Amino acid sequence: MRTLTTKGYVWVVIVILLAGILWAICKEQQISAIITEPWYTVELMVVRAYCPDEECCGRWADGHTAWNNYEIQPGDKFVAANPDFIPFGSMVTVPGYNNDLPVLVLDRTWGGLEVFFDDHQEALEWGKQMLEVKIERW
Ligand SMILES: [Zn+2]
Repeated sequence: MRTLTTKGYVWVVIVILLAGILWAICKEQQISAIITEPWYTVELMVVRAYCPDEECCGRWADGHTAWNNYEIQPGDKFVAANPDFIPFGSMVTVPGYNNDLPVLVLDRTWGGLEVFFDDHQEALEWGKQMLEVKIERW
């Protein structure tokens, strides 16, 4: 039987580190599936809100989203997500947003999900909520 060499131990450490990093990333995304069906999943996610102003978007506050440079229209309802987890164009349903009707992912954010309001005050009032979000796959 072969014993674990020093090189072997190095690999074990690397694998454990990678698993730890992956776990940390998933934790940061705060995504945990509640329901997994072929056509949709329901995930418990942190949902923040934002508006197109500089306070919310900083240097990206140009009235366009990350998807196809889409020009934001008054009254638009859409969400921003991490496209590595939820691709642009996905339909998501966020309780309490857009009368509980599905909206498109048209913008990018790093962690969790962000609902769009064209008014800064409305975004502030939404704050940060832990919600069960339905994500449709196609
Ligand atoms: Zn704002």
